[in-house]
Amino acid sequence: MEQLTTDVWVQRIDTGGFPTIAALALTPARAFVIDTLMCPQDMAPVLELLAARAGARRTVVVNTHHHWDHVYGNAAFPGVDIVAQSACPRLILQHSTTTDESVPLQPREGVPLPTITFGDRLTYSDEPETVHLIHTPGHSEDSLVVFLAGARLLFAGDTLEWPLPNFAQRDGKDVWIHTLRQLKQLPVDLIVPSHGPPMGRQIIDANERYINGVFEAVAAAKESGAGRNDLDLPPAAFLGDDVVLDEVYEDAHRGNLVWAWDEV
Ligand SMILES: [Zn+2]
Repeated sequence: MEQLTTDVWVQRIDTGGFPTIAALALTPARAFVIDTLMCPQDMAPVLELLAARAGARRTVVVNTHHHWDHVYGNAAFPGVDIVAQSACPRLILQHSTTTDESVPLQPREGVPLPTITFGDRLTYSDEPETVHLIHTPGHSEDSLVVFLAGARLLFAGDTLEWPLPNFAQRDGKDVWIHTLRQLKQLPVDLIVPSHGPPMGRQIIDANERYINGVFEAVAAAKESGAGRNDLDLPPAAFLGDDVVLDEVYEDAHRGNLVWAWDEV
């Protein structure tokens, strides 16, 4: 695993073209495992590091939201608390019976549901560190971020994404923008999105600009008669000049345009 700070490591894998991370953050009394990737086997390096470094710490697994690339490895942690926002268990169950072909089948071991849930915020005081799990809807109804106040570090799940966010919560645009404004209030120096490199606070503004820009442009195009599948709105208009997209994110952008067209 890649060491990010003295107490934080990330495990990066490829999930269908998207680089995706799970993370381990040690506080004095706890070992937080953030997300479990695509299958229990993906978590082997995390389990190894836990065995080597966690000592007597209590393991807490956090699911940042119900999407398959964040929870399908839950079975790697039998008997361990799995914490999520209160909508997450229901959404995992819904996902398990979906006919959406973009959702892979669950792993053979199944996907154990979160055992501890919360509404708006759950705080672990673990002097000198305090860890806040904060509900941040927008990408999905159950999205949360993990804020390490002492380290000024934020695990963003898919609430923030680089080079661009993925629209996945129906009619979630306004609530997402509200979430992003809340995130700007947090005293954070380093942001670790589930997809994309660790970066500074500029990712919040960049995602806000993209979301607002896409919805405005799609509304204008629809107004002037553009159909759902003939939106000609290249991504460069909504991103910084230095941002280059690979094919996976070109596709994600096209998917976002269609998603927005259905809502404006
Ligand atoms: Zn997601």
